[in-house]
Amino acid sequence: MTHSLRVADWSPPYRLLTSPLKSSSDFIRLRGVRQNNLQGFDLDIPLGRYIVVTGLSGTGKSSLVFDTLHAEGQRRYVETFSAYTRQFLDLLDPPQVDSIENIRPSIAIEQTNTVKTSRSTVGTMTELTDYAKVWFSHVAECFDPTTGEKVEDDNPRTIWAKLAASHSGRAVVVAFKVSRPDKLAWAEILAGLKGQGYTRVLCERNKEGAKGTPPLESRRIDEMPAAPTPAELGAALYVVQDRLAVQPDNQARFLEAAETAMHFGRGEVHLFSDTTWEPAGHYSRGLHSPGTGRTFRAATPALFSFNSPLGACPVCRGFGRIIEIDYRLAIPDTSLSIDDGAIKCWEGKVYGESKDDLLVFARRQKIPTHVPFASLRPDQKDYVILGEPGYGKENGKTWPKHWYGIKGFFRYLESKAYKMHVRVFLSRFRA
Ligand SMILES: [Zn+2]
Repeated sequence: MTHSLRVADWSPPYRLLTSPLKSSSDFIRLRGVRQNNLQGFDLDIPLGRYIVVTGLSGTGKSSLVFDTLHAEGQRRYVETFSAYTRQFLDLLDPPQVDSIENIRPSIAIEQTNTVKTSRSTVGTMTELTDYAKVWFSHVAECFDPTTGEKVEDDNPRTIWAKLAASHSGRAVVVAFKVSRPDKLAWAEILAGLKGQGYTRVLCERNKEGAKGTPPLESRRIDEMPAAPTPAELGAALYVVQDRLAVQPDNQARFLEAAETAMHFGRGEVHLFSDTTWEPAGHYSRGLHSPGTGRTFRAATPALFSFNSPLGACPVCRGFGRIIEIDYRLAIPDTSLSIDDGAIKCWEGKVYGESKDDLLVFARRQKIPTHVPFASLRPDQKDYVILGEPGYGKENGKTWPKHWYGIKGFFRYLESKAYKMHVRVFLSRFRA
């Protein structure tokens, strides 16, 4: 090498080679790089690290990074697309180089002075976030935040896969639940089921002395009393759609039975053991939590984009920044005591009454006002700054009986921000 191109890494090893290197998959291996003014050197660049290429203007940094590494990375990535797709893509010229091994698909962002919105990031400029949100929406799993249970959107195929894992070789009953509406008698419902060709139901054996879920029994519809009383039949029963063994040749039959059961069961299907009628699974379409019944929105790409109102952080709305009161500006010098003016925003004439309020409440709480603010206990500082827990939210927690804190003071002021002098005052404490 005749020019001073330097490849720097946060930690060794980087290797600018003078002799052949032993085979290694931990490096991008460049051999005989001759792109533009580069003069035929070999270079190994470690994978999985931040690499910085520095050097004087004209030494070949761009020739190495953009015209060699990126050109080859992009070229090989584009080769994975069909010929049809490739014709729509801009292709870079292949680099002048003897060989390149272990190259990765690459993304290049050039140094430009394009106008960026405040939400633009490396991810948005490279369109990487566009891929990520589509990918995430496909691999996302839903968990009920209350119970921590996984919430799944089931269909007959996913249920079959789970059943094949848990009940392989055993017989199960596929059923759907029917609850009796207030205005309908069981007699009519049973007649209707019979008319549709159903012959068997699972119902609660008896209601007395049963703890938890009562055991079920299987009954033929035509052997049941013509008009069962509430004592004979509870609020719900399970209609047997099919009974079959969980084995590969029964898959199609199961899928059909589960599909029908879900149709009549309003998106839900119940499975039971064929011998004991013990529950063997309860599945539903849609993201319904089995524990709490809460329904969740399906994962869509928009949920994973901070540029979408759906996916944006509700506090900063995706900007990553918020403007709010900075209490360090309200109490800039914590070596002062409250008496000596630690709470700066209350030292002027206008809001001095708040300092008087604080002195009253501090006395009640036995918070010393003559010692440096910094020396107060954390809970005492919190009391001064945040006010009483729940102030202004719970009924009755209002001034003058309760302490509003610096937080409550600013919240009050923000409600008066239509006044010019209030806005000017607030701006001094915002960050
Ligand atoms: Zn945020």
